[in-house]
Amino acid sequence: MKLSQYNTDCTYVADIVSSERITDESTAEVRHIILRVTDPAFQFIEGQSIAVLVPGPHAFGNKYHIRLYSIASSRMGEGTRGAELSICVRRCFYIDEVSGERYPGVASNFLCDQQPGDRIEIAGPYGRQFVTPRDETCNLLMIGVGTGIAPFRAFTKHIYGERGGWQGKVRLFYGARTGMDLLYMNDRNNDISSYYDEDSFKAFESLSPRPHFDEPAQVERSLKENAEEVWSMLQDSKTHAYISGLSSLEEQLDDALADIAGSPEAWVQLKKRMIKEGRWSTLFYE
Ligand code: FAD
Repeated sequence: MKLSQYNTDCTYVADIVSSERITDESTAEVRHIILRVTDPAFQFIEGQSIAVLVPGPHAFGNKYHIRLYSIASSRMGEGTRGAELSICVRRCFYIDEVSGERYPGVASNFLCDQQPGDRIEIAGPYGRQFVTPRDETCNLLMIGVGTGIAPFRAFTKHIYGERGGWQGKVRLFYGARTGMDLLYMNDRNNDISSYYDEDSFKAFESLSPRPHFDEPAQVERSLKENAEEVWSMLQDSKTHAYISGLSSLEEQLDDALADIAGSPEAWVQLKKRMIKEGRWSTLFYE
């Protein structure tokens, strides 16, 4: 869906409660930002996103610069306070095609510069296609790179922290460039690692073989290392797969799964079947 198709007529005030850098200074800045929205009309569930409306003036006379962010909290909010939700924001830059100069991305820099006590305007929540099934015996296969981990933090908090457990297999395949880029699974913040003791949960990390090069994070290595389990889960009608992160992940993943399937045709067929059965949900962004 294009950004212009999201309805941002109904907005909410959000107070910045905290903003914590969850990567160290040697790598890209990613912040875990907690927002408080006191309007009771604002309700969300895991897997949804919000829009952040950055006030202008902006190019072409636009009143707002609008970008979407996945909610990283489960429906009960952060801590015991339901009115608080978190997002996980990477400070982005873009290269101007004409001048070749690097400029800060408007929305992500606006968010990363916010201080506790500041107020921002948000809209949403959006998206109902990225939801966990009610049946706790279903298997969940979560695959993500970079900030694509945000909805999976929400999922794991919900199924283990709020529902009290999950009987089906829960597998997280996560790609990052270096160990410090493993969001919510590093020394600064290890929210997801706290579920490692759950019997049904396993997390697999893929770190880049060439971390000093500016290559996109990869997830395919750990998928291939666990090919047998991944393939049998995908074929199982009780498995729901969730894919989240930059859109470049889609091609990487199709290649890896075609390899695991034995041929691109075999993978295309299974993917079609999973989409038809509502078992393949994606959340991609440019
Ligand atoms: P822009 O000028 O719009 O972009 C600057 C550059 O950053 C572009 O080259 C773009 O390709 C690149 N970029 C955008 N997002 C990322 C990213 N996450 N990691 C690496 N490079 C990126 N972003 C998050 O940080 N966290 C999220 O949880 C998140 N969830 C999203 C959910 C949805 C449904 C969508 C559509 C997008 C999501 N994004 C998320 C991306 C976000 O909406 C913005 O595109 C991003 O913050 C850049 O916006 P900007 O205005 O700062 O810069």
